[in-house]
Amino acid sequence: MPMKLGLTILLLSTCSAYGTDLRYWIEPCTRVETTCQKSDVQLAEWAMLAWQASSDGKLHLAKTERLTQANIRIHWADSEQGQYGETRAFVTDSMRGAEVYVRPDLRAMGPDILAAGLQDPLFRDTIVYLTCLHEAGHALGLSHTADFADIMYFFGYDKGDVREYFGRYRRKLRDRADIMKNSGMSIQDRARLIQLLK
Ligand SMILES: [Zn+2]
Repeated sequence: MPMKLGLTILLLSTCSAYGTDLRYWIEPCTRVETTCQKSDVQLAEWAMLAWQASSDGKLHLAKTERLTQANIRIHWADSEQGQYGETRAFVTDSMRGAEVYVRPDLRAMGPDILAAGLQDPLFRDTIVYLTCLHEAGHALGLSHTADFADIMYFFGYDKGDVREYFGRYRRKLRDRADIMKNSGMSIQDRARLIQLLK
């Protein structure tokens, strides 16, 4: 959840009358240092599609297999690296973008959440999906909010109920495919994205 992104990549992305075009890359789950699962790549992709679907047609996110061509680069963080995730802006000669690190490891979230995730794979997928969504929001230029309803909500503001934050989303799911039907964003998250895209 830490936000270390000073610049929005939307500012220097390819903008046209038709909207904003960005490319994203998702690390395949192959490294042993992370606790990712192969299917987590799909969760990250659904998160990107959810932002695109919330943009009123203004944001076009295309998947690329080549990291060097991607504005948004989603990595699976190693087990030792922080909680939830982290997003850092980068600038090269040819593009501005963000390196996104998602930590698919519930051990850092306390015994309560770890136990819930081990018992219920959909609860674990909820955490990975919502973390992808939150960090991708940073990559697009969104900052934290203090509203528990938002995907950009920051737990640090009022030590919000982390278990319930994920639990309320989990209760909307009957199976994994339901993640595609429940974006996890609030009305305010969508409004803030559309404001950024203006
Ligand atoms: Zn954050």
